[in-house]
Amino acid sequence: LTAPDTALPTLRGAVAGLPPYVPGRRSAGTDIAALASNESHYEPLPAAAAAVAAAAGTMNRYPDSAAVELRERIARHLGVTAGEVAVGPGSVGVLQQIITGLCDAGDEVIFAWRSFEAYPILVELAGAQPVRIPLDGAEGHDLDAMAAAVTARTKVILLCTPNNPTGVPISHDRIEAFLRSVRSDILVVIDEAYVEYAEAGSGPDSLALYRQYPNVCILRTFSKAYGLAGLRVGYAVAAPDIAEGLRRTALPFSVSALAQKAAIASLDAGDEMEARVAAVKQERTRMAAQLEAQGWNLQASQGNFLWIRTDDSLQARLVDAFDRAGIMVRGYQGDGVRITVAGPASNDRVLRVLEAHAA
Ligand code: PMP
Repeated sequence: LTAPDTALPTLRGAVAGLPPYVPGRRSAGTDIAALASNESHYEPLPAAAAAVAAAAGTMNRYPDSAAVELRERIARHLGVTAGEVAVGPGSVGVLQQIITGLCDAGDEVIFAWRSFEAYPILVELAGAQPVRIPLDGAEGHDLDAMAAAVTARTKVILLCTPNNPTGVPISHDRIEAFLRSVRSDILVVIDEAYVEYAEAGSGPDSLALYRQYPNVCILRTFSKAYGLAGLRVGYAVAAPDIAEGLRRTALPFSVSALAQKAAIASLDAGDEMEARVAAVKQERTRMAAQLEAQGWNLQASQGNFLWIRTDDSLQARLVDAFDRAGIMVRGYQGDGVRITVAGPASNDRVLRVLEAHAA
């Protein structure tokens, strides 16, 4: 073959340059503590498992593409209308719909950094421009700097509270002041993937903000506290026109019938979910106190994870020590290590590893 015939199709430049999304490693072996992805360590809620089993007999059929029953159940849970709800395959799927639905090539999306790693990937994939604003000295969002970064091309701003991976929330008052200062034609997404784990009052009353500022979009997931990470279902609450637009950007049938049924059952089992969350929060408090006693200097986390800021050398030593102890955690080059809070036994293993490396 001659050279012109052997040329393969090329990816778009924006795709070729994408950083990879690197999830926590799935080590093989027994007695591995999976603490890299902020999943729930509990078995699925019995009602969710039963709903999946009951729905399994219909998997030869497509799901309800409009997810009417689920959207109505979410709406009732939050006190909004189903027209203000859009669901997708994980909140990351909904976020992709948000960014591709709103951004033209070259439009800017502002977010804090470090935050959820999918943000820059989704923005670049859409041909938009990521604008990363460094966290403040207390691992929180620097909202003044984020407001100052707004330009005529700004289309979307992502606020993550509590922030992944640092666990620091953004207070209601600070977000409200921020919303007052930014243009109303910018969509301000409040990513609340970990909201169930936050102490009441630490973060925003996002529904109240949404009612007052219709350019707010609330993003939530069933992957974390509800324990449905493997089923892929999340949702956004937004002004009816925006939510309707998001529904139109969704891939047809992107949320499976099993995921829809499990999400409904999970909302119905809210008390059980809350009891589990309370246990994780108690463990979070216990671990934070012990780590402080060990000499670690941590910010209080409002998520189901702890964040240890490190230099690269300590980061490598910690990840290595966790690896040898059979504990999967998430290391972030240049920044630190994030460890999911789980049950007492694996949390004790984490504490033992960290004790050996305390200052
Ligand atoms: N937002 C944040 C802040 C997250 O940490 C995650 C998951 N790591 C997501 C969104 C996406 O979760 P999912 O797609 O499973 O809903």
